[in-house]
Amino acid sequence: MPELPEVETVCRGLRPHVVGNRILRYHQFRENLRWQIPLGIKDKLEGSIIEELNRRGKFLLFKLNTGNILIMHLGMSGRILISDTSKKKKDLKKPKEMGVFFHTVKPTGPHDHVIIDFSDQKRMIYNDVRRFGAIDIFKSEIISSHQWLSKLGPEPLTNHFSSEVLKSSIKNKKSYIKTALMDQKLLAGLGNIYACEILWESRISPFRLCLKIDDSECEVLANSIREILWKAIEAGGSSLRDFKKVGGDLGYFQNSFSVYSREGLKCKRNECGSNIQRVNQSGRSTFFCSKCQQ
Ligand SMILES: [Zn+2]
Repeated sequence: MPELPEVETVCRGLRPHVVGNRILRYHQFRENLRWQIPLGIKDKLEGSIIEELNRRGKFLLFKLNTGNILIMHLGMSGRILISDTSKKKKDLKKPKEMGVFFHTVKPTGPHDHVIIDFSDQKRMIYNDVRRFGAIDIFKSEIISSHQWLSKLGPEPLTNHFSSEVLKSSIKNKKSYIKTALMDQKLLAGLGNIYACEILWESRISPFRLCLKIDDSECEVLANSIREILWKAIEAGGSSLRDFKKVGGDLGYFQNSFSVYSREGLKCKRNECGSNIQRVNQSGRSTFFCSKCQQ
């Protein structure tokens, strides 16, 4: 599932193509993704200009000049592609993907569910094999009250987040720290992959209970959250500059994973010598080093 760094990469990749561009035509090939796409969205979008594109948690927010915001969530397998239909050369017409992720599934059929044509002949395609993504349109002045956004926790890469904020939100929790890190109400944007990576970096066991994490560990954790996310965003940014580097199903951060998907391999801390383990934790695969992470 695309997490904060992947959605941020998509956002940065899309911005130069869509901001300032007028939506000419909106085509939709099914009524629902995870939920129903709102009726009347076509009329609200066609003719409007995208003024800004931002990210909140794992959501993309397209601010329109009509006072509306188009909200998109990529779900488990959503992808956004851009093609330029004005180009004469065939290879330039071929849609370019805005970021490729570790779990990217190649389309096996007609999975382009929404197509937006712009006045400069660019085309934006929303493709989603598993259809866990979501699309909505909402008034911008009350966007923070939208049901998908209103309960989101702070953005980890802004000054709304700190070790003190983290401490106060977990100090009374009896849940596992890993489960808490993935809770969007506590912190916006983390999923399974980066929760595993952050805990390994912090040398904290995914099975520690939140209320047992002390102040100094909270500080280490908060620093790791920022560091891991920035590194992944940087890796995503370099993949956007040269699409040829991005091949097959491999995500751009994959080679730098410390624990995720490394079951049975040597821990990357040279002095450790232990192997990475995988266990099922609350229905998700947790990768960790039982020696480094206490
Ligand atoms: Zn280790």
